[in-house]
Amino acid sequence: MSIPLGSADQILSDSFGRHARKLRISVTDRCNFRCNFCMPQDPEWMEDADLLTFEEITRVATVLARLGVTNIRLSGGEPLMRRGVEDLVGSLSRIPGIRAVGMTTNGALLKDRARVLKANGLHCVTLSIHSLKPERYHQITGTRDVFWRVMDGLQEARNAGFERVKVNCVVTRGCNEDEVQDFARLAHDAEVSVRFIEYMPFDGSKMWDSGLVVGGEEIIRSIEAHYPLLPLEREHGATARHYKFSDNSDGEVGIITSMTKPFCSDCDRIRLTADGKVVPCLFSKQEYDLKPALRGGSPDPELSDRIRRAFLLKDEGIERMLRDHVELKLVRPMHTIGG
Ligand code: SAM
Ligand code: SF4
Repeated sequence: MSIPLGSADQILSDSFGRHARKLRISVTDRCNFRCNFCMPQDPEWMEDADLLTFEEITRVATVLARLGVTNIRLSGGEPLMRRGVEDLVGSLSRIPGIRAVGMTTNGALLKDRARVLKANGLHCVTLSIHSLKPERYHQITGTRDVFWRVMDGLQEARNAGFERVKVNCVVTRGCNEDEVQDFARLAHDAEVSVRFIEYMPFDGSKMWDSGLVVGGEEIIRSIEAHYPLLPLEREHGATARHYKFSDNSDGEVGIITSMTKPFCSDCDRIRLTADGKVVPCLFSKQEYDLKPALRGGSPDPELSDRIRRAFLLKDEGIERMLRDHVELKLVRPMHTIGG
């Protein structure tokens, strides 16, 4: 059964006329990695009792699907650290109106689970890989001996037949910007989509410095020195600008220019934290705690109404902050909000 996208009086709109179509769910704040640009030095984990159950997450997603959300992405922390997340994928992919469920993962636990995830309805998987040099990879991620496991996870994801397999790479100056062309070669030769992410200002790891941001334009220029690229039309609401190679490779590269050229004006995302807070934007201070309503017996129309009010709080976004010279700073650690 398919339900129509939210009708005009149902649709989830903010005060700037944007509509929510994509839901990012952080299923846990826990992580087996300690990436230097993401994880605070002394992380405080959420209590287990505060995490939404899979039934609660599915209920919120169902209410959001009725309000016009069509795509879901599971993130974390590390989503594969949440036991049974495969079952959650199954429940979410069966929600009427949901067209695609994706996952962003560090890939360390992916190899043995890729096929079950695919069988349960996961459409696409994104692996975050920030260096192709094992020693550097371990330094960035605060891990040991996992690089080849992650690469096996990438291979298995390609074999499992997902609609799309992507690689995310956060580029930081003086660390991995010398690998941009190696990543472009991976995209070209393995025919995957590699997206370069500009480093965003999360201060909790005590590493943030605006001088570490490598802009998307610089990244594209550096790739084009070796691989001629053709820009693709940007999809409405997409965070990335994509390019294909000018030869016949099916690979793609993309830049996520959150810092130098954010796409806030058609942003169509809404976020749900692992402990049940609806957050309208990565940078917004506002959040709305749905848990009391979920656990207090509120019926769906009331949940719907609360979500609607939370989404109305969505700020114009980073574009406005840059225009008004407001210092950008993430108010919540990345691992609690899903990146
Ligand atoms: N653990 C999973 C992973 O690493 O893919 C999912 C959660 S992680 C918070 C989601 C995405 O956010 C990853 O691609 C990660 O590289 C990105 N990320 C984390 N901190 C970032 C930062 N300070 N700036 C830009 N991207 C960041
Ligand atoms: Fe964990 Fe992902 Fe953050 Fe790295 S980026 S510490 S893998 S949540």
